[in-house]
Amino acid sequence: MSLTLVLTEHDQGQLKLASLSAAAFAAQVGEPFDVLVLGSGVATVAESLRTAGARTVLVADHAELAEPLADRYAHVIAAVAKARGATLVVGAVSTFTKDVLPRAAALLDAAMVSDVIGYAGGVFRRAQYAGNALATVELEGAVKFATVRSAAFAAAATSATPSPVEAVAVDAAALPKHTTFVSREVKKSARPDATEARIIVSGGRALKNSEDFERLVGGLADTLGAAVGSSRALVDAGITPNSLQIGQTGKIVAPELYLAVGISGAIQHMAGMKDTKIIAAINKDAEAPIFEVADYGLVADVYEAVPELIQKLKK
Ligand SMILES: Cc1cc2nc3c(=O)[nH]c(=O)nc-3n(C[C@H](O)[C@H](O)[C@H](O)COP(=O)(O)OP(=O)(O)OC[C@H]3O[C@@H](n4cnc5c(N)ncnc54)[C@H](O)[C@@H]3O)c2cc1C
Repeated sequence: MSLTLVLTEHDQGQLKLASLSAAAFAAQVGEPFDVLVLGSGVATVAESLRTAGARTVLVADHAELAEPLADRYAHVIAAVAKARGATLVVGAVSTFTKDVLPRAAALLDAAMVSDVIGYAGGVFRRAQYAGNALATVELEGAVKFATVRSAAFAAAATSATPSPVEAVAVDAAALPKHTTFVSREVKKSARPDATEARIIVSGGRALKNSEDFERLVGGLADTLGAAVGSSRALVDAGITPNSLQIGQTGKIVAPELYLAVGISGAIQHMAGMKDTKIIAAINKDAEAPIFEVADYGLVADVYEAVPELIQKLKK
């Protein structure tokens, strides 16, 4: 019998919504699927997954798994996949799954495909070359691994019958100890994460420094209850942190509204946001490529237009 195992992700006890997209993908595969939660003190996360349509919510809860150390997590994922007879192991694309799933796949000598945007009859579809080419991929072997783009799979509809929760035994002595947790540096932000937000206000090279970015892009985002994003030009210039970068080598997002502020619309940037429902752009150059994909465009200087927009929205 085929079984899909969905690796879920959480942050300090808060389920990442992208995990529900991975569950939606698993439902689309058409075989029964289990979801797996790893961590320490993760009962609330497990509870929030009970309506995701899984056969079982598996919980590997152990103090040794308190931090997502890749070698330990990969060991547990591989052990669970083997014990359950999983034929497909899947997670939503993120830095966490990029770190953990290829290691687990290697432990099982399994093939893996990343950035999946479609699936039918055992064949995966994935975007490559900044979304300019679509590849169809078939994997060989009894167990396959995949990461899927959450933007391509709408979060699973909640099922009426809650799935049972089952504890997975963790053999702490067998866990690899190559890496140890030293410390965590978390930048606290009241703003939503770009991968989970309905609206993203994203800034580009037009913003001259961090203060201007915070005042204009951050100010507009706060007025709209939105997340902030950034082009790589600002990340490279040290104006914004890497965690805000949208694009081919940043985050892939698909919000309801993406407001590009002083971003030219390079293909590598658009690879990360072109699945947005509505794109709006402010740019002083009427020929900027971003206007080719924008549903709404304003040719203006961001230093004049954005303060005015914030003021009008506040009214
Ligand atoms: C392998 C590779 C991967 C990459 N990955 C990414 C990625 O993940 N994400 C990403 O963003 N980029 C990525 N890039 C870089 C990408 O090619 C572009 O260089 C980058 O996106 C440009 O950022 P920008 O639009 O902010 O800057 P620019 O292209 O310089 O555009 C700035 C825009 O602001 C406008 N402007 C300037 N001043 C004002 C003003 N006062 N008011 C209004 N408009 C103004 C200009 O008209 C211009 O259109 C990658 C490149 C490579 C080679």
